[in-house]
Amino acid sequence: MPDEVVLPLPNVYDLSRPALTALITGWGYERYRADQVWQWLYRRRVTNFEAMANLPSALRERLAAETRLGGLTLVQEVRSSDGETRKYAFSLPDGQIIETVLMRYEGVRRTACLSTQAGCAMGCVFCATGQMGFARHLTAGEIVEQALHIARVLEAEGHRLSNVVLMGMGEPFHNYDHTLEAIRRLADKDGLAIGQRHITVSTVGLVPAIRRFAEEDLQVRLAISLHAATDEERSALLPINRRYPLADLLSAVRDYIQRTGRRVTFEWTLIAHENDTPQQAHALGKLLHGLLCHVNLIPLNPTSGYHGEPSDRQRVERFVRILQDYGIPTTVRVRRGIDVNAGCGQLKTEILRRDRPA
Ligand code: SAH
Ligand code: SF4
Repeated sequence: MPDEVVLPLPNVYDLSRPALTALITGWGYERYRADQVWQWLYRRRVTNFEAMANLPSALRERLAAETRLGGLTLVQEVRSSDGETRKYAFSLPDGQIIETVLMRYEGVRRTACLSTQAGCAMGCVFCATGQMGFARHLTAGEIVEQALHIARVLEAEGHRLSNVVLMGMGEPFHNYDHTLEAIRRLADKDGLAIGQRHITVSTVGLVPAIRRFAEEDLQVRLAISLHAATDEERSALLPINRRYPLADLLSAVRDYIQRTGRRVTFEWTLIAHENDTPQQAHALGKLLHGLLCHVNLIPLNPTSGYHGEPSDRQRVERFVRILQDYGIPTTVRVRRGIDVNAGCGQLKTEILRRDRPA
């Protein structure tokens, strides 16, 4: 007889609300029981079924027997020396490792940076996640669970999760449907209730998905990873540019702005002597002139698989001055959590290196 294969129980966070309701009413319970379970999962954010106090014990037991409450297991937590940035590595039931970051800014903003894939297929040369290649898409539940974990951490300290950025490992628009389902669930009033305007999705520039996103009835913010203003330079850093060159990308972004009336953020990782030259700054100024946008400059977080170095202050300031001449609103994002390997994919790279037999 062949060995019995033991499959993990289905993760209750992978059920949409209609699917959860169908499951529970299918067991003979009334609809409101499913609403109660939903609230325990997403609003109260309990970590076991026994804690769902107002449910009949038979329902709690059946849920525990037939589903799993969550698929993420915390494998490592690292805190920055100033305590403002924390990075979590989680393992998934199939052994994949993903990362989630909590960033706290002065005032009330507390942001979770979520992963949407294990690895990434886009191969951007300076990115630690790109360097490890693609493993698989995350489910909507696995994306949302990262935010729930961060919300629990903050709650224990008397705080609330206020913002979410989909800027961790992976390309959100390559995993479009699960990402959109996760966004809707993050914003759901019966759950975390994160305001849509406080959610940002960042893409490397998948043109058809940007066009599709423009048609969604959402207030979510869009960020585009640009990093270069000429096709030659951008294709050298971001291989996807060969498929969707700058003209196509900018045309999709222009249509998005027109359709939604929303300002777009362009992200630009500054790499010394690579994309921080006056030529690139002028090309960028011309490319974006007159567009409802904002540029976010981020000095490179060095990774082991890429030789480039972050731009020094002088080069950053020169770049900013040129963009200002074109009237383009620009901010320089301080590098956060360098000491916790907060760059996308860097903690996983570190864990794999550490765990490799000598
Ligand atoms: N895949 C999406 C979102 C995840 S990456 C995207 O590419 O937009 C989030 C941002 O971090 C992107 O702008 C990406 O280019 C940037 N990034 C990746 N590696 C980096 C590094 N080593 N230093 C600085 N920024 C980096
Ligand atoms: Fe993927 Fe974004 Fe990294 Fe590029 S920068 S490899 S798209 S995660």
